[in-house]
Amino acid sequence: FVVGGCVRDDLLGLTPDDWDICTSAKPEEILQTFHDFNVIPTGIQHGTVTVVCEEGIAEITTFRNDGIYTDSRHPESVTFVSDITLDLARRDFTVNAMAYAPKYGLVDPYGGRMDLQKKLLRCVGEADKRLKEDALRILRALRFAVLYELKIESETSAAMRRNKGGIASVARERIWTELKKTFSGNHPGETLLDYPEVLSVIFETSIFCDLPYKERRKLMEYLDLLPPCPSMRLAGLFYPLHQDFSLCTKLVQSLKPDNKTKNQVLTYLSLSDKHLPATLADARHLTGQFGIETLDAFFTWKAGQAVFLPQSQQDGFKKAVATAMQFLEKIQKEQLCCSVKELAINGSDLLSAGISDGMEIGRILQSVLDRVIQDELPNEKKAILAHLFCK
Ligand code: ATP
Ligand code: MG
Repeated sequence: FVVGGCVRDDLLGLTPDDWDICTSAKPEEILQTFHDFNVIPTGIQHGTVTVVCEEGIAEITTFRNDGIYTDSRHPESVTFVSDITLDLARRDFTVNAMAYAPKYGLVDPYGGRMDLQKKLLRCVGEADKRLKEDALRILRALRFAVLYELKIESETSAAMRRNKGGIASVARERIWTELKKTFSGNHPGETLLDYPEVLSVIFETSIFCDLPYKERRKLMEYLDLLPPCPSMRLAGLFYPLHQDFSLCTKLVQSLKPDNKTKNQVLTYLSLSDKHLPATLADARHLTGQFGIETLDAFFTWKAGQAVFLPQSQQDGFKKAVATAMQFLEKIQKEQLCCSVKELAINGSDLLSAGISDGMEIGRILQSVLDRVIQDELPNEKKAILAHLFCK
């Protein structure tokens, strides 16, 4: 049988990323069957064998039943079973607990297809028990609800709130992996901010519970306005905390995202209260400091913050952001010099002209840059040297 996410995606008319296969064959039998393929015994003790073939990679898992969970994450043991419905019973949500084989058609003992039609996300079995067994499922629930625009069924939803504490035992990297995928959805704010108490456990801060309802609505709106980019959305979620930069740093670091994401998030947050550049020269200085790409992303991130302002100030703010973005366009189009390293002269030109003090060279280059940015001097070697040395 093909099983799980690929069946769900196929029923939704999407192309599955990967195909998981399950079978009554025991791992040794799988190995035997695929003896002339490249086979990786990935998680053979849990019954999973990876088969590499021309069409791609397939994970093949023996039907199994999970034993008792003692650490909110991992079953103590797994037992191989011969009935597919027993295997489907261990899966998290009805929409993920379907299997298909040409000979048997769709096997859907928990009504996953109907739930997909009704756009409902529902635990297989007793929600409380299932989320207690493995708290990662709470994060998966949020992810699936966002990505497939599903409503979380009321019992599952209540169980998510009740069992939020279990998230503390999920590895931070796993949490970030889930969040990253969630943030790439269309409207993560709507779902995530419906679970402020869960967010507060995930991010280890009470801020989401403490936000007054109106502010929480604004934050939700803001998050959903942002492009589906994990760093912008994570920084967006931390916007209410941006004045406490060291707390933001601590919280972002604790999620262990990759360095690029971490730096982007912290740059947006740290620039948050900076005035938008009112002149082309201001924009060029900022570009020199942060780079055009980061600044462009920052302005996009900033633009959505209009929702936090009173109606009367929103138009003015949007205009200011639009102007800032036009400056960037001009800088890019005309390749305007914004940093010392883009100047038409460099340190060795000054050395050759007889200036040997490094500090002095730095100071001169900086003052030349200031003049170039102010359009008082063209960024041309001859003109700059003439300005410096032919007075
Ligand atoms: P995607 O691959 O799009 O991230 P998926 O549903 O395929 O989503 P996988 O992590 O690939 O997710 O897992 C494959 C299947 O295994 C799921 O569809 C589900 O049936 C089951 N599964 C995965 N993780 C869990 C879990 N934590 N608890 C219960 N069942 C799970
Ligand atoms: Mg999958």
